[in-house]
Amino acid sequence: MDRLSASVQYVKGVGPKRASRLKKLGIVTIEDLLYYFPRTYEDRTKYSKIRDCADGEKVSLNVVIAGSPSILRPRRKLSILKVPVKDSTGAAYLVWFNQDYLADNFSEGEEISVNGKIKRNNFETQIISPVYEKRNKGNKVGSIVPIYSVTDKLSVNEMNIMIANALKEYIDEIEEIFPDDLLKSFNLISIKDAIKNIHFPQNRETFMAARRRLVFEELFILQLCLFIIKKKFGLKDDGISFDKDVNINEFTENLPFKLTKAQEKVFEEIQRDMESKRQMNRLIQGDVGSGKTVVALMAIYKAVKSGYQATMMAPTEILANQHYESVCKFFDGMGIKCELLTGSLSVKAKKRILDELQSDDIDVLIGTHAVIQDNVKFNKLGLVITDEQHRFGVKQRKLLSEKGLNPDTIVMTATPIPRTLALILYGDLDISIIDELPPGRKKVETYAVGVSYIKRVNEFIKKQVRGGRQAYIVCPLIEESEELNLKSVEELYEKFKNETFKEFSVGLLHGRMKSSEKDEIMENFKSHNIDILVSTTVIEVGVNIPNANIMVIYNAERFGLSQLHQLRGRVGRGEYQSYCILINESGSKISRERMKILQSTTNGFIISEKDLELRGPGEFLGLKQHGLPDLKIANLFTDMDILREVQKRVMEILTKDPELKDEKYKKIKERMKKMFKGKIDEIIFN
Ligand code: ADP
Ligand code: MG
Repeated sequence: MDRLSASVQYVKGVGPKRASRLKKLGIVTIEDLLYYFPRTYEDRTKYSKIRDCADGEKVSLNVVIAGSPSILRPRRKLSILKVPVKDSTGAAYLVWFNQDYLADNFSEGEEISVNGKIKRNNFETQIISPVYEKRNKGNKVGSIVPIYSVTDKLSVNEMNIMIANALKEYIDEIEEIFPDDLLKSFNLISIKDAIKNIHFPQNRETFMAARRRLVFEELFILQLCLFIIKKKFGLKDDGISFDKDVNINEFTENLPFKLTKAQEKVFEEIQRDMESKRQMNRLIQGDVGSGKTVVALMAIYKAVKSGYQATMMAPTEILANQHYESVCKFFDGMGIKCELLTGSLSVKAKKRILDELQSDDIDVLIGTHAVIQDNVKFNKLGLVITDEQHRFGVKQRKLLSEKGLNPDTIVMTATPIPRTLALILYGDLDISIIDELPPGRKKVETYAVGVSYIKRVNEFIKKQVRGGRQAYIVCPLIEESEELNLKSVEELYEKFKNETFKEFSVGLLHGRMKSSEKDEIMENFKSHNIDILVSTTVIEVGVNIPNANIMVIYNAERFGLSQLHQLRGRVGRGEYQSYCILINESGSKISRERMKILQSTTNGFIISEKDLELRGPGEFLGLKQHGLPDLKIANLFTDMDILREVQKRVMEILTKDPELKDEKYKKIKERMKKMFKGKIDEIIFN
């Protein structure tokens, strides 16, 4: 076993105690530590001088301790610690209140970096409650100092030292995965230099070279995996050509509304694919409420009228039910037989459906995961549709399409992602976008407020609910298993039910409930047995409850913008003016900016691009949502250029050696398996 997989506690300066703290950051092995990249860097050249500091300004300074600390006690319960410091331009005091114990930390002559707010009067300059760092050997090198994300029990400084130690001892263990010729032609520095310089760059150039190397490698591996998957699921040329003579107008004429231009355009794209011999594999992206379902029904209509069966899979019973209702309504009187297959069906009903499916008595099967079970056999399956596809894996999609003979497939999603990103994630799909909402939709009025507004928000909810409307109240759940957050949704619920909203019927929904319980709650909300639904984010994307017109989101700062946008999409689906109230509990500038974006636009694509832009490297949640590994360093927004180059290189390599059989790719293949943690390596390498 290689030394890098050993526990991080063996690194000098770590030990068991720090190791357990590092674990909270996801750092378990020595390798994890080496690959724990700085969140940002501090450019030491940007430090201010004491002379230039203005009153009220927040600054970073490099200073030297100029004497002994003094402690003043102007009154009971107040002590003031003052530490004299200086730099080449003047003198100042570091000042802390009621933190006498800090006094022992400083000795004259010591060099430290501080950051804090300046208080300046005619007599002296003070730096109030600064954060400080001793400039010891660990982080003095160069003018760029790494800043790591840490927990409250690990300081940036400690992290710095641990990483410096790990580098010293283990850097030679890091393996180069690229053979020499590739390194050269890609113009990359070696992995060892890259790791060293990403932590402690000497200057901007070495940092850039290190970052480029690491981003390149990360995207290269990701892209390689995705391209190979794409090939595995490669479109067959012996797909079905659906009947050109089916008259879609016979379906659309009966709709209670006129299709939007965007819906028409997307259906044309689908129709072209369906009529061609090539197998269709198309992603339909459209914001919530853009009317994807109808477009899907048009495709189903065409398939059925061409003599084939069609199926549509949704991630939950509620959604499946909702689709089934649409299908029944819109296909009424057209001689199309539809059935609904879900887990909660009786054995007898299920058997009948399975039989009729096989004998071709059923034209359209709507269902949940139940439709991909082995015993579900179609007679002549020609079209397969997956709704809210990010909830399903590649494998489930594959299982469903294997129930037919190269059936055409459509996947639909309401999670808008930037087109460029879509190309990476769905390299294997053609993309259609419904970029227009049906006319007459009222814009959801969006407000971002602080916690001090909660009372008023509650009054507003009461007023609306008394007027017959319904409300969603969402609070965050970062991990479904996180005790703390789960409790907070329950607490909120108890309080609302027993106090704030006791005159109304209040319901609770969260991820720990059984899916049958969840469905029951949603049904009760839909049928208006519940006025106010307190929930985590499990409220389904795509659920249509037009009477609900208020969405209140607690701790809105904790959600991604796209996620907030999705939640907002739960309201504004009916005739009533709707409201989305974001309770922002963070005072930070960036979170205010994020809230502003939501207030200023309802375009999901703009929001998702901003989301991508505002997140730091490696934090793009979208990937996880789509079943892909997190990126540690690449930023899909700012690293677009590298990505393009990577795509080109990967194509070149795969054209010559589609399965990477050449011995020189051995290490690259190992890395691919590692990146996907075995989840889909059975798909890639067998
Ligand atoms: P989503 O894209 O979020 O899945 P749906 O397909 O559920 O959206 O459509 C939302 C609502 O809009 C449905 O009630 C649907 O009947 C209605 N709808 C769809 N297309 C149109 C249209 N062109 N004009 C008016 N209403 C439409
Ligand atoms: Mg939908």
